[in-house]
Amino acid sequence: MIKKTKTIIVDSGRCSWGKCIFCSFSKKPNTQEASVERLKRGLDSALKEDIFELKYLNSGSFLDEKQIPKEFRNYFFEKCNSSGISEVVVECLPEHVNKNVLRDIKKRCKKVRVSFALGLEVADDKVLKKIMKSFDVKTYEKTVILLKKYGFGVRTYLMTNLPNVLEVKKSLEKSVDFALKKSDSVAIINTYPYGYSPLFSMWVERKWTPLDKNEFFDVCEKYKNNKKVELFFDDYLTYPKFPDFLKQKIVGATSECLNHAHFDVWQEYFERFYVVPSIKEYALFLPCAFRKPYSRSQTHKKILERLQGIASYKKIHQIMISTPGIIPRDFESKYPFESYDWPEWEETEKIKKEYIEVTKKRVKRYLLKHQYKKIFSYFKSESESFIALKDACAELKVPLITLLDEKMYKEIKHMNNGKTPNAILTQRRLLDSFVKVLRKNIDD
Ligand code: SF4
Repeated sequence: MIKKTKTIIVDSGRCSWGKCIFCSFSKKPNTQEASVERLKRGLDSALKEDIFELKYLNSGSFLDEKQIPKEFRNYFFEKCNSSGISEVVVECLPEHVNKNVLRDIKKRCKKVRVSFALGLEVADDKVLKKIMKSFDVKTYEKTVILLKKYGFGVRTYLMTNLPNVLEVKKSLEKSVDFALKKSDSVAIINTYPYGYSPLFSMWVERKWTPLDKNEFFDVCEKYKNNKKVELFFDDYLTYPKFPDFLKQKIVGATSECLNHAHFDVWQEYFERFYVVPSIKEYALFLPCAFRKPYSRSQTHKKILERLQGIASYKKIHQIMISTPGIIPRDFESKYPFESYDWPEWEETEKIKKEYIEVTKKRVKRYLLKHQYKKIFSYFKSESESFIALKDACAELKVPLITLLDEKMYKEIKHMNNGKTPNAILTQRRLLDSFVKVLRKNIDD
């Protein structure tokens, strides 16, 4: 059997420093305090597997006794030593590294090789100060010397594209060259803004922006075949998770709402980071609904009922177009897509025009990044969202298949004295035609 590397991430209370601007974990409310029993249970269960290397990450410092009680620390090293694991990596901060603790660990680890991971992030004191690290380059160097003196391995974490770094590639190269001389291995991590970190607010305020996958691998190109360097683009990369203190209700048919920073960050995410699930071959653009999440509205319930009756239902990517921009169905319950209202009765001609322009650009950028076999839509023909979608497709020269039967739609309006009846899109005749045309076009 091939022995493997296992990574355990444990919640062990707050880091003693807690100020690094890219760190969310140390600022989250309700972090779980470490309990010796819980930590022991987690370790025992992990060690039931056949492991070659164990990476034990506790966001902060394994040597901080407030995070990892001494009783568990001793248990951990003794257990790893006797369990047949060859390598163990734990994280630490220089302020918790001292001769006594290293001597003690060495005594308990005769067989297993222990390495300490140090988050240097960047070999530049000016940047370290600005990102609020607890130590400088000199302190890192002294810690490395001490660790090596006691026979421990050193792993160094570096981050690409930190704020206040002007030349990202040059800065990374300088840091990697430096770290490789001091460490057994180097991990380069893409800087990504997690919810409770100050960096997240910097992203929202457009003061900094993360690298996407291509940009990251371009910056790290030089190291892709270096056996001592590991690259982590998206280890924990995720959608924009707004912390509770930033959430708000965004209400109004105004330019401020339309161009709200919380919407823009999401649109950037969909354009640059989102990966469309591979099963979704067809895009179906749909209108939003006043009721949130949209799928609870009567209109969406009826549309969904019809869609679910199609054999190729799973291949259809439902994407709503609304004030925030484009919203794939899987995200409709996330903030702020369930926390905005655009009161149509407040709309002016000017804002309608702006809505079309802004939305067209958002749709265009999305479709430039994500390709589908076919693109469908089901909107009222006079709706601004539909006009924006139609214009975007025309400018991109991609065919748009409209699933609304225009003739039938006009007849229904005519029968209603030229007015659009409420929930017109859920009229049985229109829905029948919607499904029929869709089926025909996707060979259902
Ligand atoms: S990055 Fe590490 S040292 Fe900095 S605050 Fe977070 S847990 Fe603490």
